[in-house]
Amino acid sequence: MITDLSHGLFTRAQELIPGGVNSPVRAFKSVGGEPFFAHRAKGSYLFDVDGNRYIDYVGSWGPMVAGHAHPKVLEAVFNAAREGLSFGVPNPLEVTMAETLTRMVPSCEMVRMVNSGTEATLSAIRVARGATGRSRIVKFEGCYHGHGDSFLVKAGSGALTLGQPDSPGVPKALADLTLTLPYNDFDAATALFEQYGEEIAGLIIEPIAGNMNCILPRDGYLQHLRALCTQYGAVLIFDEVMTGFRVAPGGAQQVYGVTPDLTTFGKIIGGGMPVGAYGGRRDLMQQVAPAGPIYQAGTLSGNPVAMAAGLATLELVRQPGFHAELKAKTEMLCDGLEAAAKEAGVPVTTNRACGMFGLFFTDRKVHSFADATACDTAAFKRFFHGLLQRGVYFAPSAFEAGFLSTAHSELDIELTIEAARAAFREVRA
Ligand code: PLP
Repeated sequence: MITDLSHGLFTRAQELIPGGVNSPVRAFKSVGGEPFFAHRAKGSYLFDVDGNRYIDYVGSWGPMVAGHAHPKVLEAVFNAAREGLSFGVPNPLEVTMAETLTRMVPSCEMVRMVNSGTEATLSAIRVARGATGRSRIVKFEGCYHGHGDSFLVKAGSGALTLGQPDSPGVPKALADLTLTLPYNDFDAATALFEQYGEEIAGLIIEPIAGNMNCILPRDGYLQHLRALCTQYGAVLIFDEVMTGFRVAPGGAQQVYGVTPDLTTFGKIIGGGMPVGAYGGRRDLMQQVAPAGPIYQAGTLSGNPVAMAAGLATLELVRQPGFHAELKAKTEMLCDGLEAAAKEAGVPVTTNRACGMFGLFFTDRKVHSFADATACDTAAFKRFFHGLLQRGVYFAPSAFEAGFLSTAHSELDIELTIEAARAAFREVRA
C-alpha cells in the first residue's frame, strides 16, 4: 500500500500541530505507524490522499451512523448554507431540533444546543452543581466525557492510551472533587454514596461504555445508580454522546428503561458537523441562563448548518427498521470476527450494542475497565495493522468502540471478515 502523500502531510503537520493531529487518538500512537490523511469519504468508505480505500469502522468516531456524505444530509447542509452560515440570533432550525430531540428522548423536557460533546458534559455538571449546591461529582473508571478538567480523572480511550489518566494542568483541588467508581460494581457504588452521598452533585456515566472499548452495563446496574441518585438527591447524568440515537432512537436510556435527570449528546445530532447538546428535567434546565442563574453560552451554538445536518441525520435514524438493520449488520460482523479468530486459534470475544461493538483479545467476558485493560493490546496492534493493510480501518486503539453504519453492505462485512481471517493468522504467527 502506497502512503507517500500521507507521510508527507504528517511530516509537515508534526512541525506545526502538536503530534501532527488535532485530536490525540488520530496520531496512531497506541498502534504505532502513521495515520493516513483522508481526501474524501462516501458511504462506508474512507479514501486517503494516496488513493487507497478503507472500509471504515470508525465513522468519524460515531456521527456517521447513516454512512459518510449521505445525499439527504448533504442536501440539507447545502440548502442551509445558501441561506447563511451563522446568524447570531435564533433560527427556526434550533426550534425544530429541540422539538425533535425532546420527542425522541422523552426524559429531555428541555434542551440546550452546544458545539461539542465536551461542552455538553461540562455544562451538565455545572447544572448538577448549580442546582444541588454541592461540589462532588462521580464518574467511572474508563469512561470518557470529553476533555473538561473534572473528567480527566481515570478517563478512557485517548487519555488511557497515553497512560496518563490525570492530565497535567488539571488542578488537584478540582480533581479531588471527582470521585471514581469501577464500572458495573454495584457494591462500590452503594459504599461511595453511603460515604459521600450528601456531597454528591451528580453522577455521570456512559450508559453503554464506548471509551474503554465497548462495555455493556450489567442487568440492573443503571437502575441501581438511578436508585442511589434518587435516594441521595444527586443528579443522574447519562452521557449519550456516543450511544444517543445509535443504540436505539431514544438512546441507551430507552434500551435499559432508565430515566436520567440530564442527558448529554453529540456526534450523531450534528451529522458530522460540530454539535453537542444537553437536556433533561424541566426544573433543572429552567435554571440555565437566561431562564435561570447557571451560566452557559456559545457564539455558534444552534448553528443553522449544523442543525440542518443533524436534523437530516436524525430523520434517517427515525426511519422504521433503521436500528434493526444496524444491529443485524453488527451481529453479522461480530459473529464473523469471532468465528475467524476461533479458526485461527486466537482468543477473542466481542461485545455488541446495536451499531457499536468491542473486539477484545481475551478468552474471558469483558465487563469492566480492569477486564478491558487486561486484554492483549500487542495482539490488537498486529491485528489493526493487518486489517489496515487490507483496506479495513478499525479504531487505532484497543480502547475504542467500533461503529457500523447502515451504509455498510453485506459485501463490506464479508470482505472485512476475510481480511480479519488473514490478520488473525498473523496475530498468532
Ligand atoms: N462523551 C463521550 C461518551 C464521548 O465519547 C466523547 C467523545 O468521544 C465526548 C463526550 C466528548 O465529545 P467531543 O469530542 O465532541 O468533545
